[in-house]
Amino acid sequence: MEKVVIIGTGCAGLTAAIYTARANLTPLVLTGVMPGGLLTTTSTVENFPGFPEGIDGYELMTRMQAQAERFGARVQFASVESVHLDEKPIRLVIDGQSITTQTLIIATGAGHRHLDVPGEHELEKKGVTYCATCDGALPPFRNQPLVVVGGGDSACEEATYLTRFASKVYLVHRRDSLRASRIMAERTLANPKIEPVWDSVVTEVLDVAAGKVTGVRLRNLKTGTESVLPCAGLFVAVGHVPNTQLFKGVLDMDENGYLRPTEGTAMNVPGVFTAGDCADHVYRQAITAAGMGCSAAIDAERHLAGLQQ
Ligand code: NAP
Repeated sequence: MEKVVIIGTGCAGLTAAIYTARANLTPLVLTGVMPGGLLTTTSTVENFPGFPEGIDGYELMTRMQAQAERFGARVQFASVESVHLDEKPIRLVIDGQSITTQTLIIATGAGHRHLDVPGEHELEKKGVTYCATCDGALPPFRNQPLVVVGGGDSACEEATYLTRFASKVYLVHRRDSLRASRIMAERTLANPKIEPVWDSVVTEVLDVAAGKVTGVRLRNLKTGTESVLPCAGLFVAVGHVPNTQLFKGVLDMDENGYLRPTEGTAMNVPGVFTAGDCADHVYRQAITAAGMGCSAAIDAERHLAGLQQ
């Protein structure tokens, strides 16, 4: 039986791994389908303390994993199929095999939100993408007009990054001001290759029949006017949805699916703790996820100490 199993290897999961490993609890850390989490898909992280020149997101996560492994964490590439929180010890089924654990730290993060408009799903990976740093440099996008949807930090970051490759980047946002932090918003709007398209939403991605993105249909929410904006790629950056489907009906969560701890990081099932974006719809920063991961590790450690008394 394991003492600690951690689901997720983003900032929250790996920080929990560093702390529980240093407490000699040899945590088993399960990567899920995206080892390193969403930060691996970002470019330079400029706001993680300790890196005044910034650090590549992938490198930051690789370093965190190495730090956890140095103290005895075991990182396993695996997806959790089911979790049986009503059993004691807690049982998880991973790639067809059962494992049991005294404590569980859920740090499953969040995935990209979709627009849910016609053509989006059909043209995914054929010009529709959710990650500029992953796909922006691909040949179909070079020297072509591209569209980014969203008004947050992610959309600004994606739009700015894409200016390296695109002939022009249209930033389509449903309001007339950006949600992004001031520094990101100002940098984005000052970029001569980026043109904002305010008060507008994408209603359809064209052209499914052609098997590639040739444009997007837009609707201006203030005037109701419809138009077609030709482009070779659509980069969707409209936020995230928490990866908590496994725990529906068992663990407390809000109406959007974010886990809701009862006290500190402790969930409503004893021995279960949570950290990071799966439980935080407010701050959602690398450093806040890391901080929650630390708290969850300390809470799990105290819970284990309590079991021994
Ligand atoms: P976000 O802040 O939630 O922004 C999502 C954006 O998408 C908002 O502008 C929202 O519009 C728009 N949106 C949501 N649903 C939409 C829909 N169905 N159709 C059209 N537009 C839609 O998400 P995020 O930009 O991914 O950022 C998430 C968190 O990560 C934030 O806390 C952010 O600060 C952080 N982050 C930080 C950095 C950095 O510091 N380098 C980089 C990336 C992300 P409204 O504004 O109208 O709501």
